[in-house]
Amino acid sequence: MSIWGWGFIGLLCLVCLETLSNEALKPCKLRRHLETKHGEYVTKPLQFFENKLKEYQSKKKVMEALQGSAVSVFKVQHKVEATIRKLAQWKKRVDQGNYDSFENMSDFLTKEETRLPNTVTNAVKEHLEGLKTQLREYFPALDAQCS
Ligand SMILES: [Zn+2]
Repeated sequence: MSIWGWGFIGLLCLVCLETLSNEALKPCKLRRHLETKHGEYVTKPLQFFENKLKEYQSKKKVMEALQGSAVSVFKVQHKVEATIRKLAQWKKRVDQGNYDSFENMSDFLTKEETRLPNTVTNAVKEHLEGLKTQLREYFPALDAQCS
């Protein structure tokens, strides 16, 4: 029984994880790949390549899982950054006496034709700043984590 073709899933070499070109699908090309690149494996029994296959499959699962979590980390980070920007924007508006971000309060102030006392405005701004700081503490910027 020939081992050629056993070192591969499709066109992926299980030894070096190189994907060969379509043309290499011919048994002689696969054989050449093993002989020239992995001469030491040519005499390995079938079992060896079966183990390689299992190894590859479990590695692939780990890689896929990691990629999945990386995607969601970036997603979460993106939302956090957007929220922090929004909080900064709200604070700036409050500074300018603009309460459009807070619908109920804005309606109330318009209806009553009044303004918020400074103490309340300051409390709102402090609260927004606090939210921002807390978010940043829980989710440090990704750039900062790398340094
Ligand atoms: Zn290879």
